[in-house]
Amino acid sequence: MSTDPRQEEPLHPDRHQVVVVGSGFGGLFATRALDKTDLDVTMVARTTHHLFQPLLYQVATGILSVGDIAPATRLVLRKQKNAQVLLGDVEDIDLEKQTVTSTLLGRPTVTRYDSLILAAGAGQSYFGNDRFAEFAPGMKTIDDALELRGRILGSFELAEVTTDPLERQRLLTFVVVGAGPTGVELAGQIAELARRTLPGAFRHIDPTDARVILLDGADDVLPVYGGKISRVARNDLEELGIEVQLGALVTDVDSTGLVVKDKDGTQRRIESRCKVWSAGVQASPLGKIVADQAGAEVDRAGRVLVRPDLTLPGHPNVFVIGDMMSLDKLPGLAQVAMQGGRYAAKQIEEGLHGASPDARPPFKYFDKGSMATISRFNAVAKVGKLEITGFIGWVAWLVVHLMYLVGFRSRLSTIMSWTVTFLGKGRSQMASTEQQVFARVALERIQREDGKSTGTSGSEKENPGPDRATG
Ligand SMILES: Cc1cc2nc3c(=O)[nH]c(=O)nc-3n(C[C@H](O)[C@H](O)[C@H](O)COP(=O)(O)OP(=O)(O)OC[C@H]3O[C@@H](n4cnc5c(N)ncnc54)[C@H](O)[C@@H]3O)c2cc1C
Repeated sequence: MSTDPRQEEPLHPDRHQVVVVGSGFGGLFATRALDKTDLDVTMVARTTHHLFQPLLYQVATGILSVGDIAPATRLVLRKQKNAQVLLGDVEDIDLEKQTVTSTLLGRPTVTRYDSLILAAGAGQSYFGNDRFAEFAPGMKTIDDALELRGRILGSFELAEVTTDPLERQRLLTFVVVGAGPTGVELAGQIAELARRTLPGAFRHIDPTDARVILLDGADDVLPVYGGKISRVARNDLEELGIEVQLGALVTDVDSTGLVVKDKDGTQRRIESRCKVWSAGVQASPLGKIVADQAGAEVDRAGRVLVRPDLTLPGHPNVFVIGDMMSLDKLPGLAQVAMQGGRYAAKQIEEGLHGASPDARPPFKYFDKGSMATISRFNAVAKVGKLEITGFIGWVAWLVVHLMYLVGFRSRLSTIMSWTVTFLGKGRSQMASTEQQVFARVALERIQREDGKSTGTSGSEKENPGPDRATG
């Protein structure tokens, strides 16, 4: 197989070429905003879908299917004639040559751009302890959510057949690290799965015996909200039977549990087979690649410090948006990415009509609020100074999430799945496979072994691989 880079053919070589990296909130909304503009857009992304990350936890806990929250980008953009989709992992960006190099299964493609919108998002951060990932996966991708579903359901299955009471307890202890919105939502749904959906389905265990522990180093759940919302959320979680442990820092994770250091300095161990990490984010490494070339800074989370028009210094044609950029302490939220995408598209369009980059208005984020569900019929939301909790918060959550799900089919099937789960007790997506549980660690092991055979990195002894079924 030849590895000579292929040059991506522009749709219309005489037109302005925009390359968008990423098909998430920033990338897709930027591409769609350029629909009516006289230019070509190439959206390069490592997945063939647009992922609605805020509902990943519902895939992990058997409520929604993958298709509900991840429509195919090719189909979403089918009618947008000035756009094309290129599947590939972007590995390099050359600001001088104005090219983006992506690879698909080892086949490199170089795509030239006149304007670039970088929206490659962020991954999980283990704060320097990447080895934790093997035993406590994060939840950023569809693969992560399906792996988690397998680990959660697999724990109940193993508990059903184990004869060792200690091991059964370990299997029925679920630990979620990080009490931000994702951790709160996931812990709430694991508890509801155990207490509402699974009772009566097993013969040797009582699923309601499951312990769900939500841990955080901070002193509040949902610390970004603080005040009343944090207090209400904590109470509601405890009423659901979730053990909320705050001021607790995780210092080690292995296949059978984790070690936690409390505020008074005491260390303790929690025995648990199924751990989930939702404690930190690290922006795409592409940020550092372009920042180094442009002389821009990146913050500790790898986000690029952009100019007020979301561009790199000295490169008014290169926009960095969404979870990859740092500006005015804006949070890592879908709205920040969507609005950034639309803003970048508008500046490119105005440039085509002769507007100078120096005349661009600064990006202004319009805060539409943020929200998190605790359980069915119960959510917290903050819109400006308005704080909403309980059922009204949940209705607001429902409406907003339906509004932003891409595609009529996704909305319809999501409404049906929610009816099954929220009005009844069932969950329609309870299938999981061994491959979903083991594939990530197996792939990482193969990559390590490849590295070892070429003498680069990796040690089999240091990384013993997962225990069967729940790792
Ligand atoms: C579990 C979870 C729950 C969340 N809940 C909420 C919520 O309730 N409300 C809210 O507002 N926000 C929420 N967020 C945050 C929100 O999803 C992000 O802020 C938003 O997705 C950022 O958009 P983005 O376009 O910057 O990145 P993303 O949406 O993450 O998109 C990044 C895109 O880049 C692609 N990509 C990455 N690297 C490469 C590469 N090297 N080459 C090619 N393509 C690449 C990815 O495949 C993806 O298509 C949540 C996030 C998570 C993970």
